[in-house]
Amino acid sequence: MRLSTYFLPTLKENPADATMASHRLMVRAGLIRPLAAGIYSWLPLGWRVMKKVMEIIREEMDAIGAQEFQLPALNPIEIWEETGRVEAFGDTLFHIKNRPLVLAPTHEEIFTTIAKDHIKSYRDLPQIWYQIQTKFRNEPRPRSGVIRGRQFFMKDSYTFDRSFEDLDKSYGLHREAYKKIYSRSGLKFFVVGAYSGAMGGTGSQEFMVESADGEDTCAVCDNCDYAANLEVASSRKDPVGRVGESRPVEEIHTPNIKTIDQVAGFLKMSTERLAKSLVYNADGEAVLILMAGNDQLNESKLATALGKTAYAMQPEDLVKLTGANAGSIGPVSLKKFRIIADKRLEDANELVSGANKDDYHLGHIDLQRDVKIDGYYDLRTVEPGEGCPNCGQKLRIVNAIEIGHIFKLGTKYSAALHANYLDEAGAEKPVVMGSYGIGVERIIACHIEQNHDDNGIKWNKSIAPFDVHLASVNMDNKEVVAAAEKVFDDLKEAGFDVLYDDRQGVSPGFKFKDADLLGMPVQVIVGERNLKHGNIELKFRNTGERKVVPAGEVIGEIKKFLAN
Ligand code: ATP
Ligand code: MG
Repeated sequence: MRLSTYFLPTLKENPADATMASHRLMVRAGLIRPLAAGIYSWLPLGWRVMKKVMEIIREEMDAIGAQEFQLPALNPIEIWEETGRVEAFGDTLFHIKNRPLVLAPTHEEIFTTIAKDHIKSYRDLPQIWYQIQTKFRNEPRPRSGVIRGRQFFMKDSYTFDRSFEDLDKSYGLHREAYKKIYSRSGLKFFVVGAYSGAMGGTGSQEFMVESADGEDTCAVCDNCDYAANLEVASSRKDPVGRVGESRPVEEIHTPNIKTIDQVAGFLKMSTERLAKSLVYNADGEAVLILMAGNDQLNESKLATALGKTAYAMQPEDLVKLTGANAGSIGPVSLKKFRIIADKRLEDANELVSGANKDDYHLGHIDLQRDVKIDGYYDLRTVEPGEGCPNCGQKLRIVNAIEIGHIFKLGTKYSAALHANYLDEAGAEKPVVMGSYGIGVERIIACHIEQNHDDNGIKWNKSIAPFDVHLASVNMDNKEVVAAAEKVFDDLKEAGFDVLYDDRQGVSPGFKFKDADLLGMPVQVIVGERNLKHGNIELKFRNTGERKVVPAGEVIGEIKKFLAN
C-alpha cells in the first residue's frame, strides 16, 4: 500500500478526552474516528487490524467445530419479553421508536429460537454456533475509546447439549479456544472465576487484562493460579467464633455513636465482635445482613445468596420497619425480616449490635441463642493482603479489563423459549446451553495498552495492519526511490503486507515519527547515506534495535525476523 494515496490521517496532538494510551493512539494513528459518544468509525488502517483479529477468532472457533452464523441485530421485542430481558436490560436496551423492535445487545434469545425450531432429538446435539456481529448497548458512561462503546463487535457463541456433563465439555473447548485467541493476539491475560449474575447459570469465567484503567477488580494470587473477580473472590480470614460463657443480653446507651469505629472507640473493644447490620430490600422482602466489624458487604455475593438482586433500603423505610435509624439497627427481636449473616460470624457470641432504638446498642449477643439466622454465607469483599483461599499467600487486588466471558447458562433460555429435545428414552428435555462472548475491540485496545511507548504503537506481527513499514527518505533522489520501489516489490512478492511511505514533500523526521506512531513490527529505511554503500537500514519497532544491511539481504533479514 502506498501511503501517498492511502487514506491514513495521523494526528500530532492527543485527543482532549482520551485518558487511556490505547484511546489516544488509536485516534492519532488513524485507526478510528469518533462519531458520537461511544460510537466510532473504523478507518482503513484500523479495519485491517479488526479483520486480522476476527480471522484469528474464526480460525480458533472453527477449530473446535463451531459453525458461523450471521443473525439480525434488529429483533422483535416480543422474544426479549418472553425471557424477561426487556426489563433486565432496562435502559441499556436500545428501543426502536416506530416499530416494536429492539437493537440486540447479545443473542441468546435469537439463537435459542433457532434451536427451538430445528433441534428435535438427541441426535441433533451437540451444536456450537457463533457469529461475529455488531452489538448495541446504551452504556450509561461510554469511555476509554472503543473499550466501552454503544456499538461494538462481539464474537458470541452458544452451545447446545444434552446434559450438564456435555455442557462442561463444550465449555472446556471454549476456554481452551479463548486462551489460543488471546495468546495469538499477543495479549498477556488471566482467567478469573466470575459472577454468574442474578440470572442464574451454573458457573462462569472471565478473561482479564490487568490495567490501572480497568473497570473490573480482581483478586489474584501470584503464588498459585487462584484469580477471581472481586464479585466472587474469597479469602482466608479467621472466624469471629465463640469466647467464654455467653452472658445475658445487655442494653448499652450509646448517644450519637453510629459507625463501627465510633462504637469500638466508645466501648473500648476491637471491631471484630461488632456485628454491623445492613438492611436491604430484595424484591419486596426485607433482609437484615450481619457483617463482622468493618468487613464490606459484597452486593454480588448477596445477590447470589438470595437468588435475586437486592437494594439498600431507603432511610425512611428503615425507621418504619425497625424503629431505628441506620447505626442503631440490630438482629435481636427484629420482626418481619429475613436475617442472614456472613460466614465469619457463624455461631459467634459476645457480639455487640444495634438495639433497634436510636442511641442504643445491645451487648453479649449470642447468635446461637438470641437470633434466628436464616443462613450463613460468604458475603464479604476481599481486601488486599488477605490469604489466598487455595494456598494462603497474600492476595493482590488489581484492576482489569474484561476481554471475554464464558458462561454455563444451563436451561434458563431453553426453558423460557421451549427449546426442548427428545432424549434416547423419548422423554422431552430442555437443551442445556452455554454462551460465550469476546469483545473484539477490547482485544485491539488492550493489545495497544500492553504494546506501546511514548512515540506510538508496537504491533505484534499477528495483528499488525502491515508487516513492514517501508520509507524512502528522499523522494527527489532517483536512486533512493528506485531502491525503495525494488524493496517494495520484493517484499510483496515474498508475501508480506507492506506500507510504503512514498509521500513527496514530507520531511524525513516526520516520516520517522509516523513510522513509530503507526508501529509496524519492522521499518525499512531507504536513504542516501546508506545507499551510497549499497546498504539499507532496518529498525525493529519493539526493541528499537537498528541494523544496516546490504540491500540484497533486506528480504532475508525480514523473513528471518518475522518468522520468529
Ligand atoms: P462489562 O462488564 O464490561 O460491561 P459485560 O459483562 O456486560 O461487560 P458480556 O455481556 O459478557 O459483557 O459481553 C461479552 C464481551 O463483550 C465482554 O467480555 C467484553 O469484552 C465485550 N463488551 C461488553 N460490553 C462492551 C462494550 N460496551 N463495548 C465494547 N466491548 C464490550
Ligand atoms: Mg461480563
